Amino acid sequence: EETDSEITFRFKDLTTNLCSPDQLRTKPDTADLKFGHVFTDHMLKIFYHRKLGGWQKPVIIPFENLSLHPAAKVLHYAVELFEGMKAYRGVDGIIRIFRPDLNMTRMNVSAQSSGLPTFDGHEMSECLKRLLQVDSEWVPHGEGSSLYLRPTLIGIDGTLGVQQSDSALLFTIMCPVGNYFDGNNDAVSLLADPSFIRAWPGGSGDKKVGSNYGPTIRVQKHAISKGRQQVLWLYGPDHQLTEVGTMNIFMFYEDEFGGKRLVTPPLSGLILPGVTRQSIIQLCEQWREFPLEQRSITMGELVKLQKRGKLLELFGSGTACIVSPIKSIEYMDELIEIPTTEHQNPIYRRVRTELQMIQYGHIKHPWAQPI
Ligand code: PMP
Repeated sequence: EETDSEITFRFKDLTTNLCSPDQLRTKPDTADLKFGHVFTDHMLKIFYHRKLGGWQKPVIIPFENLSLHPAAKVLHYAVELFEGMKAYRGVDGIIRIFRPDLNMTRMNVSAQSSGLPTFDGHEMSECLKRLLQVDSEWVPHGEGSSLYLRPTLIGIDGTLGVQQSDSALLFTIMCPVGNYFDGNNDAVSLLADPSFIRAWPGGSGDKKVGSNYGPTIRVQKHAISKGRQQVLWLYGPDHQLTEVGTMNIFMFYEDEFGGKRLVTPPLSGLILPGVTRQSIIQLCEQWREFPLEQRSITMGELVKLQKRGKLLELFGSGTACIVSPIKSIEYMDELIEIPTTEHQNPIYRRVRTELQMIQYGHIKHPWAQPI
């Protein structure tokens, strides 16, 4: 018989230990805020100890350093996973969190693949909403800015050996984010080099585990050294486009009959199932203005479309910037220029605007949940 605490912790057990007034820190000016450098006053912590019955009670406490055994599994075998999600201050002053249920589902999938304990996503979402209420003054004012949440789950057994961790820590820290996109001159350049591979069939590329990200740092540095801003991750002998940096990818193009189509690679195990990706797909399915295809895109197809002037837009999607237009790809020593930002009413901007309208409460929508 599984007990309740082996299955999940509960929001009703959450206790809050607030900062004393002298512990509260001054909030930064969001205009010149570097991502991920400033954190809010409080954090959420939930321990799991298999030998103590499983999940312990959730606590909100003043932001603090962690204390870990030097043999903690997370430090040696990257037994860890994380999420990235955002809360927005709406035009009506109400703070909303965007589709937390999807992040919690993805988090549990990642936990399962790491041998870490799963939990009830709804209970966690409720804890996150309380954390947001406690630090609500940290949610920046002004459209384009937001508060980023970083739920993280780590294996903390103080024993060496590649085995399941019997103890874990689920925590969440948060940081204010300034306006990500200024104007429309934010299109990015990419380096597509098939010798770098981010994910492979049967691997973990579709999970949000830390071990997928560390090894990409040198590749990103390499792209910068070649004068390109981000990496376009290719896979296979036919050079399939999989992801761009830490974003999913979309291509808007004209088919041989003059019809326009939006295409994004399928969830085949090679790509992360992005919340933004899914939201864009659902919006386009509601609009019913052009077909939305989930199929692989190869560099051969992209080059052919571009040469014929049929490649209209290419953009990345993710929580960080919603959508990010792409202006060029360096591929096999050639520069492929893409007219993404040169159209009258580009799709990438329509998608971005629609999602912003929902996130900032211009439109009431079940995806944006008041805290
Ligand atoms: N791909 C990768 C590899 C990512 O890390 C992310 C960011 N989580 C995404 C895509 C976009 O996902 P989301 O829309 O959920 O932010």
